[in-house]
Amino acid sequence: MKANSNSAILKLLAKLGAGADIVSGGELYRALKAGIKPQKIVYSGVGKTSREIEFALKSNILMFNVESFEELEQINKIAGKIKKKARISFRVNPNVDAHTHKYITTGKEGNKFGIRYEDAFDIYIKASKMKNVEIVGVDSHIGSQILDVSAFKLAAEKMSKLIDKLEANGIKIKYIDIGGGLGIKYTAADKPQKPVDLRKTIMPVYSKYKGKTIIVEPGRAIVGDTGILVGEVLYRKTSGTKNFIITNLAMNDLIRPALYESYHNVIPVKKSSTKQQIADVVGPVCESGDFIAKDRKLPVFEQGDFIAVECAGAYGRAMAFQYNSRPRGAEVLVKGSKVKVIRKAETIEDLMSKEVK
Ligand SMILES: *Cc1c(COP(=O)(O)O)cnc(C)c1O
Repeated sequence: MKANSNSAILKLLAKLGAGADIVSGGELYRALKAGIKPQKIVYSGVGKTSREIEFALKSNILMFNVESFEELEQINKIAGKIKKKARISFRVNPNVDAHTHKYITTGKEGNKFGIRYEDAFDIYIKASKMKNVEIVGVDSHIGSQILDVSAFKLAAEKMSKLIDKLEANGIKIKYIDIGGGLGIKYTAADKPQKPVDLRKTIMPVYSKYKGKTIIVEPGRAIVGDTGILVGEVLYRKTSGTKNFIITNLAMNDLIRPALYESYHNVIPVKKSSTKQQIADVVGPVCESGDFIAKDRKLPVFEQGDFIAVECAGAYGRAMAFQYNSRPRGAEVLVKGSKVKVIRKAETIEDLMSKEVK
């Protein structure tokens, strides 16, 4: 859900039967409002607050993906207080390398996420003795923008060993949550694999189980390449040997280049010049990290030309913020020639509305 949480998108997905992997009470609220069934909601994240836990318990979500022993104790306590049983799984860190950027790899040791693989069995045993929790699953999420699905196989093999050991000790596993992370094509060189490749990779490991449900949490692969970010060329300038294209798009609109050094293709909305140049596409924000693209071969743009930044549907608007008092733009859903505003542009007044004057 964190890849794109616009209500209109969520409603579309809910209609198609999707569940949601949430990481906050806010996302739970949005999911329920969009009509996603609570029995299809799993709740991940290392820092669930007491209020969020209580909200999720009262909403009757499918399961908590628990990420620490203290979180387990807290869930057990709150469930007891409101006389509920919390369905849980543990997010286990299978310690495999997903070969992705250091900020988006999550399944390796020395990472804040999940529980060490070596500690998993013991914590399951401890949980099985707690009164107000019911163990229902296992969970892992090894990273994001994974282009080679073989890492999922390594994770599956380790998780399967854990499942077998748990079941041999009387702990029944109903749900196997394999996380998200399937990559998309940001650059010409990216060769993303399809959901069917992921299935073919993990099923040789999991097909021996009968009556278990596999949960997948794709974010980027659903929405990433369905969205573009459109902006306007304001000015051109050169500095030494560098060309800059200054646009009204900035790091607050799309932070991925600044945060993960990620690549987003930039194209003209209307093909104009056939002449090309090497340039940086930057925004008005007062930070050197404020760029959309660096050292790119681009058409020679004119002032007023519109540009499209590709693959902005995931972690684009969802991560946008209002630094430099920049209101966030509108979101528009396009189907064929049909166009619908699904979020209005913010105004400066919106930004100031909670300030006490
Ligand atoms: C971010 C996240 C996902 C989705 O990752 P994608 O790379 O967008 O598919 C799934 N599960 C968890 C626990 C996450 O934190």
